Amino acid sequence: MLGPCAAGLLIPVRRALLNPEPANRPDRDRWDIDVTDITAPQLKADILRHLTFTLGKDAAHASVYDWRMALSYAIRDRIVEPWFASTRKTWETGAKRVYYLSMEFLIGRILEDATINLGLRDMAETVMADLGQDFRTLIEDEPDAALGNGGLGRLAACFMESMATVGCPAYGYGIRYEHGLFRQRFEGGRQVETPEDWLTQRHPWEFERPEAAYTIGFKGEIVTRDGREVWVPGETVLAEAHDTPVVGWQGKWANTLRLWAAKPTTLFDLERFNRGDYAAAAEPEALARTLSRVLYPDDTTYQGKELRLKQEFFLTSAALQDILRRFKTGGHPITDLPNHVAIQMNDTHPAIAGPELIRLLVDEHGLEFEPALDIARACLGYTNHTLLPEALERWATFTFGNVLPRHMQIVERIDAWHKAKYPSRPHYVGIVKHHEVRMGELAFLMSHKVNGVSALHSDLVKKNLFPELHALHPDQIINQTNGVTPRRWLKMCNRPLSGLITDTIGAGWEADLDRLRELEPHVADTGFRTAFGAAKRQNKVALAEWMAGHCGVTVSPDALFDVQIKRIHEYKRQLLNILETIARWNAIRENPTADWVPRVKIFGGKSAPGYAVAKEIIHLINDVAQVVNTDPLVGDRLKVVYPANYNVSMAERLIPAADLSEQISTAGKEASGTGNMKFMLNGAPTIGTLDGANVEILHEVGAENFFLFGLTADQVVKRREDPDHSRHAIEASQTLQDVLQMIAEGRFSPEEPGRYHALVHRVWHHDYFLVAADFDAYLAAQAEVDTAYADRDRWLAMAAMNTARSGFFSSDRTIRGYMADIWSVTSAL
Ligand SMILES: *Cc1c(COP(=O)(O)O)cnc(C)c1O
Repeated sequence: MLGPCAAGLLIPVRRALLNPEPANRPDRDRWDIDVTDITAPQLKADILRHLTFTLGKDAAHASVYDWRMALSYAIRDRIVEPWFASTRKTWETGAKRVYYLSMEFLIGRILEDATINLGLRDMAETVMADLGQDFRTLIEDEPDAALGNGGLGRLAACFMESMATVGCPAYGYGIRYEHGLFRQRFEGGRQVETPEDWLTQRHPWEFERPEAAYTIGFKGEIVTRDGREVWVPGETVLAEAHDTPVVGWQGKWANTLRLWAAKPTTLFDLERFNRGDYAAAAEPEALARTLSRVLYPDDTTYQGKELRLKQEFFLTSAALQDILRRFKTGGHPITDLPNHVAIQMNDTHPAIAGPELIRLLVDEHGLEFEPALDIARACLGYTNHTLLPEALERWATFTFGNVLPRHMQIVERIDAWHKAKYPSRPHYVGIVKHHEVRMGELAFLMSHKVNGVSALHSDLVKKNLFPELHALHPDQIINQTNGVTPRRWLKMCNRPLSGLITDTIGAGWEADLDRLRELEPHVADTGFRTAFGAAKRQNKVALAEWMAGHCGVTVSPDALFDVQIKRIHEYKRQLLNILETIARWNAIRENPTADWVPRVKIFGGKSAPGYAVAKEIIHLINDVAQVVNTDPLVGDRLKVVYPANYNVSMAERLIPAADLSEQISTAGKEASGTGNMKFMLNGAPTIGTLDGANVEILHEVGAENFFLFGLTADQVVKRREDPDHSRHAIEASQTLQDVLQMIAEGRFSPEEPGRYHALVHRVWHHDYFLVAADFDAYLAAQAEVDTAYADRDRWLAMAAMNTARSGFFSSDRTIRGYMADIWSVTSAL
């Protein structure tokens, strides 16, 4: 446990670590050498020491895995020092802490990111080479920590890194899933899921904390003791902490990601074991472990499953007990809690935090209900991530009351309190309605601030999701536009471009991303544009090689790399993209000698295992790829590549090599998007709709550097009023008719001509996401892309302008916004 008691162990943090670098150093890699006072021979000795004494391996027989572990432990050693120093400073200054509660943390690999933030990347590469090991091979040996589905989980990971970078004292709380997001394979073009097993190897980044464990209860009954109602749970499990330090840029600050693993409260039924009933003897263990076994593989559909509710309560209760334990160590009165504690709920998944905090304050600390409620609301904030009705969590009161009987009482009390306080509240508004507990309303009423994740989305949260509550609490909903960490998503993943940026504007942009604006005057310079193009080409060559090896498709690095990577979902409209691909194929075949701009259409993404339509779309993309890639008439003019198992590491490979960023969701459906920001940072212009943060990307980069198309959110709503909108759109577009006809006739599935009948029927008659209505506009925008790309000078200027104007999308900016507007926390740096 890190606390004041550990202070005796602490080494004072080195001066160099605390002194920020002067911003504008022309010698770009100097910082990499002098800030951390470790020399290459010392790092080498550390690696060999870990190889010998931690791994128990002789260098002569060490495998890639052994070397990676040894290097990881040596790097982790360097994080521990700033980590302790940060913790100690927080205790000493009594600073307020942020607690970020999230069911998902989509972290990816840690090793290279840690070496970058410590300024040891190049030294590590050299030292490993000296030891006969290829650094890249070691980096790629690390499995992705995939404890999340997509954007929401990746945002939590970016926030952890940014909180460490800006010096916001914080803990992330999540679940240590044994199996993260499933692995995706294609069999005959179909998605097949296999379990992910990142924990079968040792996870070198974490510290197990068996001493930090809390009892979590479920079910049972309410009894009255001394006139107060208390909960006697019918089941209990232990939540055991596993801590991963998260170090910020230049190692100036480090926070903790604390993940909970479920353990049985009773280890073992010895009596049964002795009777020979071995399976039954291990039952308590098996039952408990189920809780932290798997990540639910879908974040766009609400799961009414009891296990999911238990997981949510498991995370939340463990976190709150830990928070209160730490707070009490400080010796402050409990009424002071909001001055020391800010708790952020990443979506409604931890929304049980409201009632649970009230329960802990009332049942275990003796407070009355209303003061407890006021304290809880002052601590809690809620981030809304979706307007999709099918994704809004609501639990049957039967399930909720069965699993959490005491919380059911408290929820009803909160609802009654709110109704009494705001008698004008309409009768249809509230937390408990139609025998369901609505988690969005619960999170709203229990928070002092509710935020959306892009300007457009926050407006829609006010107008469409919580209009009545917004009218009663007009200051409560605010916006905090998402961001991404530029360390991972530019510095680390795109060395050619980040090198060029540092050569052009000097070091320091990594933690001050607005400085990328200094690139703008250079965009007019031919030399700079050429260098920008050369960096992009280098990434494209590397990707082409990788795709040849991994997908068996050979592509030209001179083709336009057109990339759509994200979860497969109807609202994200991969279908629109593949329909355009077919139209392009037809056009090329009709006129093969025309001056085509060669394209590589790259798709990546997983479908939720139970999402049948998304799986058909995956199948169609693979079927189209099969036909197009083997068409000799088309050659390099069009290729379709869909590498399986999209994850953070694949994103790091694809995004730096992208020429075009596909952000084509039905307007009003993508809350923000963060993939769109990663592409912009890496110099890929967007083809996109006015949706989510695309609106702000367009605002920053200017219409001349963005390919805008499609209906607006308002127009989408209007268009749906026409029940035949898709038929009308299809009848007006010969191109779309032809494309749909080809699919329906089995042109891409000759072995099963009827394979896509249902999908085509859907476009004709149940096109909720307006693929047909936006098709022609999308085609026109793609034609503009071709024209722009053919003018190499113009294209490079557009691409460079995207990078130059991407500063706003750093998650450092987002975190500073949360600190100022929601958490009332200041930087400890
Ligand atoms: C950034 C990221 C996402 C989110 O992408 P969107 O395009 O915003 O949906 C999803 N998955 C991974 C692996 C990512 O890195």
